[in-house]
Amino acid sequence: MLSCYSCQQIKSENEFYREKYRSRGYSIYCKSCTLRKERIRNGTSLDITRNPPGSFNRQEWSKSYRAANKAYYTEKSISRLRIKQAFPLTKEQKKQIVAIYKRAQDERMVVDHYHPLNHPLCCGLHVPWNLDVIPHEENAKKSNKFPEPDLLFQVTV
Ligand SMILES: [Zn+2]
Repeated sequence: MLSCYSCQQIKSENEFYREKYRSRGYSIYCKSCTLRKERIRNGTSLDITRNPPGSFNRQEWSKSYRAANKAYYTEKSISRLRIKQAFPLTKEQKKQIVAIYKRAQDERMVVDHYHPLNHPLCCGLHVPWNLDVIPHEENAKKSNKFPEPDLLFQVTV
């Protein structure tokens, strides 16, 4: 039996979604609370008091936001495409990348681009040999920093 952090009720395990990374192995909210929260967040709540007609709707809002900032999103998708096309991968290499992501998932780690993809001084590639499986905290710490200052020095000289 588990307690829900939202409705405070004690329910059986199958009333909770599995969340492996949590110590108890299940979500802190029961299934019905999870769904209710999701609907409120998405502006699709069935509860008329939480989502009266004409009120804020996340889907509508993000749609109009994207339309109003079209250039930004177009550029973003083009640069993503460029990163992909910068180095056409063979089937074998694509498989390697999938395997790296799979390994990261299994080990509960994250995939890191050793040389960052977006950096003013270097352009890392989305290729197997630029990918590294590291703990999440390390990736967050590293952010977008160039990995080796010495190497950078040699490159610029
Ligand atoms: Zn609940």
